[in-house]
Amino acid sequence: MNNRILLVEDSKALRNFLSQQLGSLGCHVVSAGSVAETQQVLSKENDFVCAVLDYCLPDGENGEVIDLVLESNLKVVVLTSYFSGEIREHFLSKGVLEYILKDSMCSVSYLIPFIKRIMNNVKHHALVVDDSRTMRTNIVQLLDHQYIRTTEAEDGDDAISKLAANTDITFVITDYAMPNKDGVEMIKEVRQLYNQNQLAILGLSGSSDRTLTAQFLKAGANDFLYKPFNQEEFYCRIHQMLNMKEATDELYRMANQDVLTGLWNRRYLFEHDGEHSGDRNIAMLDIDYFKKVNDSHGHDAGDLVLIEVAKAVKNSFKDGIAVRFGGEEFCILQHGNYDSFVARLDTMRQEIEQIRVSHLDTQIQVTISIGATNTEGNLDEQIKLADQRLYDSKEGGRNRITSR
Ligand code: GH3
Ligand code: MG
Ligand code: MG
Repeated sequence: MNNRILLVEDSKALRNFLSQQLGSLGCHVVSAGSVAETQQVLSKENDFVCAVLDYCLPDGENGEVIDLVLESNLKVVVLTSYFSGEIREHFLSKGVLEYILKDSMCSVSYLIPFIKRIMNNVKHHALVVDDSRTMRTNIVQLLDHQYIRTTEAEDGDDAISKLAANTDITFVITDYAMPNKDGVEMIKEVRQLYNQNQLAILGLSGSSDRTLTAQFLKAGANDFLYKPFNQEEFYCRIHQMLNMKEATDELYRMANQDVLTGLWNRRYLFEHDGEHSGDRNIAMLDIDYFKKVNDSHGHDAGDLVLIEVAKAVKNSFKDGIAVRFGGEEFCILQHGNYDSFVARLDTMRQEIEQIRVSHLDTQIQVTISIGATNTEGNLDEQIKLADQRLYDSKEGGRNRITSR
């Protein structure tokens, strides 16, 4: 998705302020100060993620700009100084995404996260589970309106197989009463595989049974809503759930990923060991004479080399776990035939030798030494043995692999 936002606001001060705030989200802002200017912009381009529109403009005091922009099939957020239940209904029935009261700084602190939410929605994929096709269609339309992709399932069993088939699903919206498997039973099964951070779940039910909220939450749902629901409440719940999910994803990333290279760290390696059965291959590798790179070219150059070597390691073992183990030391965990593992390591070693890292007016070249093993034992023991073999490779002259 593009990052373009159309901003229409006649107050220059507010327009500049909002442009700057939206800019800091990474949005490209195209702005206009009147209906006429908006018309001009739209005659040239109408590829925007959404439009933020001031309700009252000098050449259209009654929301004329809203209809104009909606005609171009754009998503619209309205900024308004007036508020009434009637206006709200009017906006929502037209398909306006959100209306924000321009009464204080609060409105800006609502608008910016809202736009961020809408832009991030494209990263999400929802599984909509309901035995009623009408209900599914209704929810799918609501999600689609805010750029969320969807897949449908008609009961709990179907949901479980759709989840297995679509590993990019980030959250589930599920009804309670369904044939084959109800929502609560389905969640209990799903929670064996995914925790609340990995897969968010919103339960729904049209039943009058007031104990359902607790049943859903105890089974592992993140949130619950009775049907029929108010559309705004539905969106608020979804937004809150996705905001929470993204925040915990980010924390997880910060705790498990190396900042410089983007590779996983040691914590991740030990947490994910044992997820696959079968022979485990381990390799430890270390850049040769790396201290010299820092000494002769500077620490920044050293960092660039680390990034390039990490990239090569990651690309060579997409089917395994590539970890930055320490300073200039990496570890690879992979399952499969040991001889081909060793052969791939050696190919990677040769590829790394060919890399030239440009820094200022020089080209930096490095080599790596590798120790590998597939002996039985726990991860700690294997790492120790691979490390000893790495040491043998260093002693033996560097830029080589020791695998037995
Ligand atoms: P050997 O061939 O025996 O491995 O020699 P070496 O110089 O590579 O090994 P040594 O352990 O003596 O030096 C490693 C250097 O890596 C020292 C340290 O400053 C540097 N280093 C560790 N982490 C980073 C980093 O994140 N960035 C940079 N630029 N340097 C780092
Ligand atoms: Mg080294
Ligand atoms: Mg070292």
